[in-house]
Amino acid sequence: MQTWVDFATIKRSVVLAPLLRRYQVRLHRSGRDQYRGCCPIHGGDGREAFHANLSKNIFHCFACGASGTVLDFVAAMERCSLREAALKLAHQTNAEDSRPAAACSRELVTKKTKPLSPLGFTLRGLDSAHPYLAARGIEPATAREFGIGFYAGPGILSGWLVIPIHNACVQLVAYCGRAVDGSQPRYRFPSGFPKSEVLFNLHRAPAAGGETLVIVEGFFDCLKLYQAGLRSVVALMGSALYVPQQGALLQRFHRVILMLDGDPTGRRATAEIAARLRAHCSVQVVHLPEWMQPDQMSAHQIRQVLLSFQTTEVIGPIH
Ligand SMILES: [Zn+2]
Repeated sequence: MQTWVDFATIKRSVVLAPLLRRYQVRLHRSGRDQYRGCCPIHGGDGREAFHANLSKNIFHCFACGASGTVLDFVAAMERCSLREAALKLAHQTNAEDSRPAAACSRELVTKKTKPLSPLGFTLRGLDSAHPYLAARGIEPATAREFGIGFYAGPGILSGWLVIPIHNACVQLVAYCGRAVDGSQPRYRFPSGFPKSEVLFNLHRAPAAGGETLVIVEGFFDCLKLYQAGLRSVVALMGSALYVPQQGALLQRFHRVILMLDGDPTGRRATAEIAARLRAHCSVQVVHLPEWMQPDQMSAHQIRQVLLSFQTTEVIGPIH
């Protein structure tokens, strides 16, 4: 897997003091820019063990030996790798839209993302007319076009609906499993799959030829819009837009329509993503009624909503 995150930029632009506050670390001042207190990483009762130097933007614990930069701090607190810590920081600082973060995001998005490496196999014998798809309103032709279907062959995805995910170079990079019997988890991604680096359907979206991209949350939202004739649509596979995803979509599109779920999570995400994207492109927002999701809408409803946004350039004929 490629590391695209610019560690140096993050270390330079993320400030330790607000980070300590975010993790509710209580320190007392022990000198100019020097603070001490209990170590949030190992716990313990040494009340002077943890030292932070805010001018140098570093920390050190004399009890457990943890030390380093904002990246080391977040990695230690989150028990994750430096790379994951960097991705978290890049995402959080962007979300907060603070000034150093804005600079940071600009540098980050201009860095070229190497596509994920292709998967070495393709699942065969998929049933694109499975009753689960019909129940969700997905026609066999749409499922076939996306390579989606119920898989009954050998392997860990046996008994799951499988959804192929491609990188921007149209290479298959993963299958996501979707439970069809109501069991949990509903979705199964390969372990370690870097969701933050891919937008579902981004490899097809530019083919519509327009400058506008519609962003939805889930696979089925995306399928329903596509089926309604809207070809330039991608799914976040969640409700967050990560910096690498943002970089990838801004390389191709200059206008974005956000059509996230009409629940509190979707509303919050919409406000956050819109605020962030507006610095880079034109953004319009579809406010769906309370608790409404695009995948519950008929093709007619979807077209009505989007036509009011004058997106005729991206809406083709219904197939
Ligand atoms: Zn410690």
